[in-house]
Amino acid sequence: MAQIPLPRPYQDTAPYWAAAKEHRFILQKCRDCGEPQFYPRGVCSHCLSSALDWIEASGKGTVYSFTVNHRAPHPGFAGKTPFVLAIVALAEGPRMMTNIVDCDPETVKVGMAVQVTYDDVTEEVTLPMFRPA
Ligand code: ZN
Repeated sequence: MAQIPLPRPYQDTAPYWAAAKEHRFILQKCRDCGEPQFYPRGVCSHCLSSALDWIEASGKGTVYSFTVNHRAPHPGFAGKTPFVLAIVALAEGPRMMTNIVDCDPETVKVGMAVQVTYDDVTEEVTLPMFRPA
């Protein structure tokens, strides 16, 4: 069976994926302006500073927007439909594209409280996802 496309960690994202593998959810926070950001990158998306720290995030958020996907966008998703593709507003502020899991897709609503959970897809890669809080 085909594997879903998986992230390939590199310098800017490796700490994020290493934490996910340990079932920890971390975000970057700028040392200069104090803003947190997602996705991980080399500079602050608010002030372009490269002074970025990693913080332990709460793993809490709310559904900002979502769609229920009924067609597999890649052979690796065959058998996984329907699934919820969502944008979650993290409690710390940034928004994150993710999946809402562990519930009937038809029960997902905008504004619903969600909490991070982890899908250990392979020995090397764990994907943070969200489930109803
Ligand atoms: Zn900044």
